[in-house]
Amino acid sequence: WSKSRRKGSHAVFDVTMHARAVSRLQIETELRRAVERDEFEVHYQPIVDLPTGKVHAFEALVRWRHPERGLVQPDDFLPIAEETGLILPIGQRMLDEVCRRVAAWQRDIGRPDLSVSLNISNRQFWHGGLVDDVARSLHDSGLTARSLSLEITEGVIMHNVGLARKLLKDLHGLGCRLHIDDFGTGYSSLEALHRLPIDALKIDRSFVSGLGVDPRSGELVRTIVLMGRNLGLDLIGEGIENAEQREHLLRLDCTYGQGYLLSRPVPAEPAAALVTRRH
Ligand code: C2E
Ligand code: MG
Ligand code: MG
Ligand code: MG
Repeated sequence: WSKSRRKGSHAVFDVTMHARAVSRLQIETELRRAVERDEFEVHYQPIVDLPTGKVHAFEALVRWRHPERGLVQPDDFLPIAEETGLILPIGQRMLDEVCRRVAAWQRDIGRPDLSVSLNISNRQFWHGGLVDDVARSLHDSGLTARSLSLEITEGVIMHNVGLARKLLKDLHGLGCRLHIDDFGTGYSSLEALHRLPIDALKIDRSFVSGLGVDPRSGELVRTIVLMGRNLGLDLIGEGIENAEQREHLLRLDCTYGQGYLLSRPVPAEPAAALVTRRH
């Protein structure tokens, strides 16, 4: 009985494995086609100045407009893009479009101070061409370097802090700003941080979501803010979903925030409208 049952579950397992391998391969094939056909779009989520409610900047977030599946979210294709290296052409396309778009907004909306954040994956950071790619996009678009922030996670940097420091210095040398994304989830030491040319910490959503619920989240956020302030960094709270979380962040002296409460990521046109709208 147990033997046949085990056999049975084994068969089910194999079928699932097979299905998974097929769909992974299928996604990879479709992703290659998507790169050729340029099926990607950029959505923008405002980063808000919490005391005034004004849009301070945008974070650019990639979306895949799949011909049959509709809008595909990053979590469903970025891991495969990263593994296959397709993240490089996708990232290049993001970089070009975002620089062009924000340069246009700065002129058209009359907000020359508006900036944009772009996520940089492990592969993008380490592939050896990032500094040149960024420099070229800035040059071609006419966007001033300090209007472009690059978001990098602790994990990517801690891969090789010494080399990362050199790369970050080169990017900073161009004039770009550097933000640590999902801060608090990695293992960067205070010592490592203060030796890096960083401009802001983005406090991970997991801490923000605990504000008002779990007292430890409050203590953690307070500590991160204190540390950031001591290093002269800006602080951005991620994933603000309710007014209580926003009030908490403000009270803890975290002055920038982003999250569904303020706005979901939206396509370029509605994003531009958010800048002119009063909060
Ligand atoms: P991230 O950089 O930490 O971006 C924040 C993610 O949280 C976004 O998910 C955003 O839509 C979501 N988010 C914002 N506010 C809230 C909120 O209030 N509640 C909740 N539950 N979620 C919120 P998204 O767009 O699915 O992106 C996921 C991740 O994919 C990003 O995390 C980033 O690591 C990566 N990613 C997105 N776009 C790009 C890109 O163009 N290039 C690269 N290399 N990575 C990207
Ligand atoms: Mg990010
Ligand atoms: Mg993040
Ligand atoms: Mg993330």
